[in-house]
Amino acid sequence: MREFDFLARVFAANHLLPKRVLVPPGDDMAVVDLGNGDGILIAADSAIEGRHAPWGCDPSVLGRKAVLRNVSDVAAMANARPVAIVATAVLPRGTSEDRAWRLYEGLRETGAAWDAPLVGGDIARTSSEDPRAPLEVSVAIIAAPVRPGRGYALRSNARIGDGVYVTGTIGGAWNPDGTGRHLDFTPRIAVAHALDEVLADRLGAMIDVSDGLGRDLGHIAECSRVSIEIELGHVPTTAGVAPREAIAQGEDYELAFTARGHVPSQLAGVSIARIGTVVAGDIAVRVRDGSAWFDARTAGFEHGDGAGTGGGAR
Ligand SMILES: [Mg+2]
Repeated sequence: MREFDFLARVFAANHLLPKRVLVPPGDDMAVVDLGNGDGILIAADSAIEGRHAPWGCDPSVLGRKAVLRNVSDVAAMANARPVAIVATAVLPRGTSEDRAWRLYEGLRETGAAWDAPLVGGDIARTSSEDPRAPLEVSVAIIAAPVRPGRGYALRSNARIGDGVYVTGTIGGAWNPDGTGRHLDFTPRIAVAHALDEVLADRLGAMIDVSDGLGRDLGHIAECSRVSIEIELGHVPTTAGVAPREAIAQGEDYELAFTARGHVPSQLAGVSIARIGTVVAGDIAVRVRDGSAWFDARTAGFEHGDGAGTGGGAR
């Protein structure tokens, strides 16, 4: 199964959703109207041992990553702050209470650190006798608008003429052995809030970089029905990572966004670089590498049955 093809089928049914769904599947978080004027935001993410974190890792690492991925999605809405999380763990048979507790601690501590208290969930045991069955955890997060009524930095908000920006550095988040900063990163909540406040209506679309910068910009291009042009040499890459590799790898959990007018080069202690421009034309992410152009959407990691081109065991 190809994840993106499957999701396209899911999104095709969005028109069947009730009107209280203000932002349907297809963005970093969904937004649902509560009938009292404020929407509530909701999203879910999982972390699987041996896929999103190294096999045999401390279960708290798995729990932490599952929470951080969710908080990163909250950041990608800009005008949103975490409220609470719930978690469902799937434990292989024979999991010790100590390992289960370590998982719980990773969820609880990370949630608390991001003002997203763990308020419920479930523990399931797999029926599999497979000794290599992985520890799995799924986390759902609820978030609320920071400033009600202001709206969110949706993927569909890019406008022709916007600059394209990215926070921090891209690439090298994932070491060959599965370790790396993707296991313990700082979700860009603070810079997202600062951007929302400083840029206000000049802020366009936003996404957190999980699939790979090229593919994630592709999501913005598709949702906004625009073309994006990137200058490869302007992408701030992690030292030692070739730019073409960097934009394909993924799991950076930085923010990519579009905006018009002046954007500070640093906010909330995080560097911000302009890497391109939103232009008219067919939906595409075209990257200029010297005199050559290539399509960035064909490079990047796809969360699926190993169908991605980004490598790794995710
Ligand atoms: Mg996301």
